[in-house]
Amino acid sequence: MSHPQGKELSIAVVGGGISALAAAHRLVELAPRCRLKVFEATGRLGGVISTVHRDGYQIEQSADNFITTVPHAVKLCQQLGLEHQLVETNPQYRRTFVVRQGRLHKLPDGFLMMAPTRLWPLAVTPILSPLGKLRAALEYFVPPRRDDADESMAAFVRRRLGGEVFQRLVEPLVSAVYAADMEKLSVLATLPRFREMECRYGSLIRAMRAQRRLHPQTTHESGARYSMFVTLRDGLTSLVDALAARLPPGSVCLNTEVVGLQRA
Ligand SMILES: Cc1cc2nc3c(=O)[nH]c(=O)nc-3n(C[C@H](O)[C@H](O)[C@H](O)COP(=O)(O)OP(=O)(O)OC[C@H]3O[C@@H](n4cnc5c(N)ncnc54)[C@H](O)[C@@H]3O)c2cc1C
Repeated sequence: MSHPQGKELSIAVVGGGISALAAAHRLVELAPRCRLKVFEATGRLGGVISTVHRDGYQIEQSADNFITTVPHAVKLCQQLGLEHQLVETNPQYRRTFVVRQGRLHKLPDGFLMMAPTRLWPLAVTPILSPLGKLRAALEYFVPPRRDDADESMAAFVRRRLGGEVFQRLVEPLVSAVYAADMEKLSVLATLPRFREMECRYGSLIRAMRAQRRLHPQTTHESGARYSMFVTLRDGLTSLVDALAARLPPGSVCLNTEVVGLQRA
């Protein structure tokens, strides 16, 4: 990366969260001689990522893992020499709970993100009413959508599995994972594989049961596919620290809010 007139490039990175730090790190790789400044409004780097160590516990204040099916974060850890610190989720605890009427209830075994791989745990869960269960079972017969138009994640789940499954199982799980409102999240941008399943198998239940035959070891998991996630042994702040350590000395300006940009 070079300036058209051969001048030294000046680059401002706004924010000191993980996105900005990864971008700054990449810029230094591409243009090692550039004059880089990272401006962070607060007094610390990492943005929402923050690992706290207290009373012998390690607490993540936001993200506590990242996905491995998209390779970039794992590759970044390898580049930074953190690959030996990557840890997988413990298979013994791969499950999710939702609160209903003040009590914790385990998500039905095999209920993965937006659809069940097993019907019996759904039939006996105390989270859903009999009518809600019946509506969920009818998903098998709901005709698939045939056009390519997008819809919200909320609309998709209500259409396939009914309002109760949406409200009591999917919404608490998915909106927590994405830290977003499911009424506004696009299903095609967020979890397109569920629309693909609908299209290919005609029903999510049919699709999930077909997958279960291929991966029988995951049938007791519930929630997200936790086997696809990893984290760093000392917390995700160690990724922030490793990125910051690779930036040129003096390039990070803390307590500096950017209020406007002007071309140099
Ligand atoms: C509760 C929670 C749990 C999550 N769990 C996961 C998870 O398990 N796995 C996962 O992959 N993702 C998870 N996420 C999402 C993930 O943490 C975020 O997508 C990611 O950390 C966002 O990083 P970012 O750098 O884009 O933004 P941020 O972390 O928001 O950083 C933005 C930074 O820019 C600074 N800034 C903003 N404006 C200015 C300005 N004008 N001038 C200077 N500085 C400015 C801010 O102070 C901040 O430090 C979670 C998110 C939350 C909230």
